[in-house]
Amino acid sequence: MGADVKTACQICRGACCESIVLRLPATDAGAWLALHGVSVGQHQVEIPAPCRKLSACGACSIHATRPDHCRTYVVGGADCRATVARRRPTDAAQIIAAMPRAN
Ligand code: SF4
Ligand code: SF4
Repeated sequence: MGADVKTACQICRGACCESIVLRLPATDAGAWLALHGVSVGQHQVEIPAPCRKLSACGACSIHATRPDHCRTYVVGGADCRATVARRRPTDAAQIIAAMPRAN
């Protein structure tokens, strides 16, 4: 890959690090939406909570020692794609095009 070719995450600049998505029991989702006024989709809510380790350029400032949850987050996976579509709608096509091919 040439130095001028950006990865999906470099274009995206940390959309997945800006909030917390909670999956809820079906019976609770409506109540959460009513209480907090946020919704990602069916049985999910999103709470804005930018990570303190997300740098201004959109990179993780503790990449080498980031938590396991961050390590196991799959670039190009279902959650990643949903996050990009939700939080980066303008750049989503470009970001998705730069994602690694599914394996
Ligand atoms: S949402 Fe996906 S593309 Fe964007 S920074 Fe996170 S892992 Fe990378
Ligand atoms: S520790 Fe790094 S990878 Fe994990 S949420 Fe924070 S900025 Fe993102």
